[in-house]
Amino acid sequence: MIIIDRYKCGYCGACVSVCPTDAIVLVGTWIRIDEGNCNTCKACVNICPVGALELEPKIDSENGTVHNSNVKIG
Ligand code: SF4
Ligand code: SF4
Repeated sequence: MIIIDRYKCGYCGACVSVCPTDAIVLVGTWIRIDEGNCNTCKACVNICPVGALELEPKIDSENGTVHNSNVKIG
């Protein structure tokens, strides 16, 4: 899941342009990421000029395990 720091975002639209799945919607100063369409490619994270986007690891609510698809063990 990508999280947005709305205090940092300058609404430049760069992340919208780079997203391969059109998961980011930006209308004026309203920005939202459609989690269902996001494949966590991190293209938006890498292109954001102000570091407003971050890939958040998933936390299993039952046992507190952190799942991060970018980390592979073994
Ligand atoms: S690239 Fe960064 S600053 Fe620009 S709209 Fe996206 S989140 Fe905001
Ligand atoms: S991680 Fe990739 S698919 Fe998800 S919102 Fe960012 S650019 Fe789009």
